[in-house]
Amino acid sequence: MTRVLLASRNAKKLDELRRILLAEHVSGVEVVGLDAVPAFPEAPETGATFEENAVAKARDAAAATGLPAIADDSGIAVDALNGMPGVLSARWSGRHGDDLANLELVLAQLTDVPDERRGAAFVCAAALATPSGRETVVRGEWRGTLVRTPRGANGFGYDPIFVPDGASRTSAELEPAEKDALSHRGIALRQLVTHLRALAG
Ligand code: IMP
Repeated sequence: MTRVLLASRNAKKLDELRRILLAEHVSGVEVVGLDAVPAFPEAPETGATFEENAVAKARDAAAATGLPAIADDSGIAVDALNGMPGVLSARWSGRHGDDLANLELVLAQLTDVPDERRGAAFVCAAALATPSGRETVVRGEWRGTLVRTPRGANGFGYDPIFVPDGASRTSAELEPAEKDALSHRGIALRQLVTHLRALAG
């Protein structure tokens, strides 16, 4: 069994990563979390792109633990904000990981933006790094529209204000499996599956 580390400290994101990979049934691979390895320091996310941040996180985790590691860097790119908050999505309000404050700030910034210009995309870069230095990075995007009033209790982050194109519910109103089938994270991670199968030999 090849152990593969999911290098994320964000519990909700980790749930999704684990769920998406388990649904792919990659035989010979056991997915483990950071709780299964000795603690190691986490470098600050300083990259200008999702890809740079995802690769840096996966590389650091693989080097520190000796296990192949998967990391994701993700966020929301709002059309009316010229693609921001982008890589700053987790700390847009100035407080890292304060999902509610981040969402409320984006809503306030978009108050005067009419419905037809409220497009946005969730973006996920997912990287797989091996201790020997092999690195793969893939990207998934999920387009939708931002509503004015949050709805739904599933998911995390900006899910309560994001209505995916072709849907009427927000992504926080989707069942977990429905979100995974459509989401930026699902699209990205499923592109890593062939690489994981290769690792398992
Ligand atoms: P990071 O990848 O840990 O830097 O943070 C990603 C941030 O983007 C999260 O804190 C969320 O605010 C947002 N985000 C990423 N993916 C999703 C998602 O699937 N739903 C809602 N918000 C997301």
